[in-house]
Amino acid sequence: MTDIEEKGLRAQIAARRGDLIALTQDLIRIPTLNPPGRNYREICEYLQARLAHAGFAVELIRARGAPGDSARTPRWNMVARHEGAASGECVHFNGHHDVVEVGHGWSRDPFAATLEGDRIYGRGACDMKGGIATAIIAAEAFIAVHPDYRGAIEISATADEETGGYGGVAYLAEKGYFSPERVQHVIIPEPLDKDRICLGHRGVWWAEIETGGRIAHGSMPFLGDSAIRHMGAVLAEMEEHLFPLLEGRLSEMPVVPEGARHPTLNINSIHGGESEQCESYTGLPAPCVADRCRIVIDRRFLIEENIDEVKAEITALLERIRKRRPCFRYEIRDMMEVSPSMTDRCAPVVATVAEAIEAVLGTAPEYVVSPGTYDQKHIDRIGRLKNCIAYGPGILDLAHQPDEWISVQDMCDSALIMALTLERLLCPA
Ligand SMILES: [Zn+2]
Repeated sequence: MTDIEEKGLRAQIAARRGDLIALTQDLIRIPTLNPPGRNYREICEYLQARLAHAGFAVELIRARGAPGDSARTPRWNMVARHEGAASGECVHFNGHHDVVEVGHGWSRDPFAATLEGDRIYGRGACDMKGGIATAIIAAEAFIAVHPDYRGAIEISATADEETGGYGGVAYLAEKGYFSPERVQHVIIPEPLDKDRICLGHRGVWWAEIETGGRIAHGSMPFLGDSAIRHMGAVLAEMEEHLFPLLEGRLSEMPVVPEGARHPTLNINSIHGGESEQCESYTGLPAPCVADRCRIVIDRRFLIEENIDEVKAEITALLERIRKRRPCFRYEIRDMMEVSPSMTDRCAPVVATVAEAIEAVLGTAPEYVVSPGTYDQKHIDRIGRLKNCIAYGPGILDLAHQPDEWISVQDMCDSALIMALTLERLLCPA
């Protein structure tokens, strides 16, 4: 651990503890609620002022035409770049600046960012304004110790991660901000805990399945054909064959929590027959045979599965039912798909952060994969950049919860780990 002391990174981070707290609090106090996407411009301007002062060249980029972008809710992003004394590789820290709704159950003001002992409370404290602040402090401390470093450091704060990232990282990736020619290492400081490295995530396929029938009077259902009964057969087939099949598959990916090491299928919604009336309606429903029934499925798949097989499995299931049920008709509509992403453990950013964790915390990191997706998907697929991980302070389970908080000590430890990572990547011996 002595090299950290000698080179002064530890002292620099310690000296910035108060600044780290204040910066985190300032970010939480700008309520960037998404949806609908509030105060994006304000938070980008705040970060622009901060990073310009630290010597970064800062761009504010609006994702014009992205989903959700409008005159009232423009999708603003901030990208800041600091050039070293000589050419070299670029390390990019990317954090999303949007936060989810407050929800119920808070015992504190969610935007007051109160400091109580070691904890800062507020919506976005861990997911992920604390992570953004940590990366900024790490970069500033590193630059103070090594003004002559080689390469470049980038910090971005991007919109809409909570709603898919299309007005944020996806937009920037389309514009070339994550191309391998420009950026070589990406760290996303999502709250995965200070001793864990998240290598990627499972894949996703969302689809709508609709069964068709024929409307008739409910007193003579034999004159119609119930789309709901057809859907019942679909669900029964899933219960009997598909769920056990998925349960029997296990990934080599270190997905947490444990249950997510299997592929999963959720039925997000089901609608059939007459549409629901508003709550104030006091009448009775009409007696009709349902001529349509729809479900939305959310299939999470493993790196060992491929999307075509995942889709074919559902089609085969529906075809089996069609063979034994007269008049069974169905349609499948794709809604969204994301490929699984997993960075190799030997990738330079993984190995370097792992070494830094060991140096600072004295323990080897735990490698994990996220059950759900995050912005790494866009960096991987659109940006074609594989050398990317999520690493940051904060406890994942607190994300999106009431009384969300982040530990100041965890942020300081992570900041030192990030600064040491920069030293190892940008200061060749
Ligand atoms: Zn997040």
